[in-house]
Amino acid sequence: MTICKTAAEMRAHRRTRRQGGRLGFVPTMGALHAGHLSLVRAAREQCDSVAVSIFVNPAQFAPHEDLDQYPRSLERDRELLEKEGVDLLFVPSTEEMYPPGSSTWVQVEGLSDKLCGQSRPGHFRGVTTVVAKLFHIVQPDCAFFGQKDAAQLAIIRRMVRDLHMPVEIVACPIVREADGLAMSSRNTYLDLEQRRAAPALYRSLVRVQKDFGGGERNAARLIGAGKGTISAEPSVRLDYFEIVDPQTLDPLTEVDRPALAAVAAFVGTTRLIDNLALPG
Ligand code: AMP
Repeated sequence: MTICKTAAEMRAHRRTRRQGGRLGFVPTMGALHAGHLSLVRAAREQCDSVAVSIFVNPAQFAPHEDLDQYPRSLERDRELLEKEGVDLLFVPSTEEMYPPGSSTWVQVEGLSDKLCGQSRPGHFRGVTTVVAKLFHIVQPDCAFFGQKDAAQLAIIRRMVRDLHMPVEIVACPIVREADGLAMSSRNTYLDLEQRRAAPALYRSLVRVQKDFGGGERNAARLIGAGKGTISAEPSVRLDYFEIVDPQTLDPLTEVDRPALAAVAAFVGTTRLIDNLALPG
């Protein structure tokens, strides 16, 4: 596995491998778990070579958020990726990604204020800016993203379309723990009691799915049932529960087409997110 730390090294590597077929790319913030590795495996299956980036992007964290505490385990991550047969690992510094005086931002207007964008202003601007930079540096043919971050996926798809970026975006299913909790690097923050409570997010989505399966199409009633499941777990504090159009992220009043039920909640100080597709 080749490791590149600068955009120049990365470009030089890409120039020598230009004839090497399709390059699949998996951008991550590290602290890798089975969810990340599922993206790497999808990339391996669908592409001729695979690049992964590890970069904890300061621009997507608000000042009061967990940038400093965010788990970092580069040596372990490197070993995992090596075992998965990854060809290229890009681990830039913050200065490399944001040279002093950086003042250029990529923002998908409108979509970036929905779902997590409401409770984390500026978050998606940070995400689209760093993903655009990474795409320019890595120059992949396809990039793999988890459905776990459904709003992020919709926003990146829109950015790629609007800016004519020559990258195919591939969505991969959410990987869960045995009790349904969506895998996340932030799950490591949870103590035993919080870990026990955390699957309430998934249970709330399953409840919505069940009511939907029983014929309920009114979004407010579906959301009410989901919120009820969350409030039954006192150590979980709801941030939002929404049923939205998966492309526009606009809330639906009637679920008469494919939709996304999405939840965000705090377990202690840890903010977790999850979602499930409703077939419509
Ligand atoms: P992160 O390191 O949290 O920025 O995530 C990097 C990529 O992994 C994103 O595309 C996420 O959506 C994806 N991802 C994170 N957790 C999961 C999961 N449990 N299942 C599938 N993909 C995931």
